[in-house]
Amino acid sequence: MLNVKINQWLIGFTTVCLLCFFSTSKTFEYFPLTFFPSTFSHAQSAPLKPHPLPPSLAKWNDVDRQGDYFELIQTTPVGYLIWSQFPIAVYVEQPSGLQDNSAQGVRFQQWVNAVAKAIAEWNLYLPLQEINQPELADIVIVSSSIDRKIQLNPDTGLYDIPQAITAQTNYEFYVREEQQKVLAHKMTIKISPDLSPLATLAAARHELGHGLGIWGHSDRQSDALYFSQVRDTPTISVRDINTLKKIYQQPTKLGWKI
Ligand SMILES: [Zn+2]
Repeated sequence: MLNVKINQWLIGFTTVCLLCFFSTSKTFEYFPLTFFPSTFSHAQSAPLKPHPLPPSLAKWNDVDRQGDYFELIQTTPVGYLIWSQFPIAVYVEQPSGLQDNSAQGVRFQQWVNAVAKAIAEWNLYLPLQEINQPELADIVIVSSSIDRKIQLNPDTGLYDIPQAITAQTNYEFYVREEQQKVLAHKMTIKISPDLSPLATLAAARHELGHGLGIWGHSDRQSDALYFSQVRDTPTISVRDINTLKKIYQQPTKLGWKI
């Protein structure tokens, strides 16, 4: 599963700024999908149907019935953003220097450690495996500042300068060549290098939630996928997992033969 070749025939690309997490803005931007028409219709030939629940989610049982925020989750033209091959391959950017004891090197290592902790937390619910090759990864996590989109507001004639966004998740669709052509997706997560270790962990936990398919935000501060930064950093909550499980019961074209 990790040896699949990523076909360069990218059939669709979307940039979705869902990151809002540390932004004080309560809105998040959606950019329109830009499919190449001929290949999009081909990709649409994949069936829209659910995959079997992964065992880790199948056995999840919320005895207290704490509910979920599934109604706040977005779908896409190819269905929900569901992974169906496990473990999900995750690449995390690494410091380039082997023995980098500079302040910058130490900070980078703290960033890597915080991201690894977030991966370990989600691994309880969906199998994740770190790999060394970003081109083969399902989810790529990089240390990167996020560009702020400064736009002229036609109503006021002033420029809207958004709050600093410190993390962002994008997805793209492509066709993976295995024995057959399979509609697939790939996630790219950017997390700022300038956060404290605790804030990096919170951001990585939140973004990985998006990367695993929770494409939307909770309206409660106690959930990891709450849309904004809160003082007491939430861990992965029962409602987060209830929502994740419900998403994985939905139909999708991803992971099916085209
Ligand atoms: Zn978010």
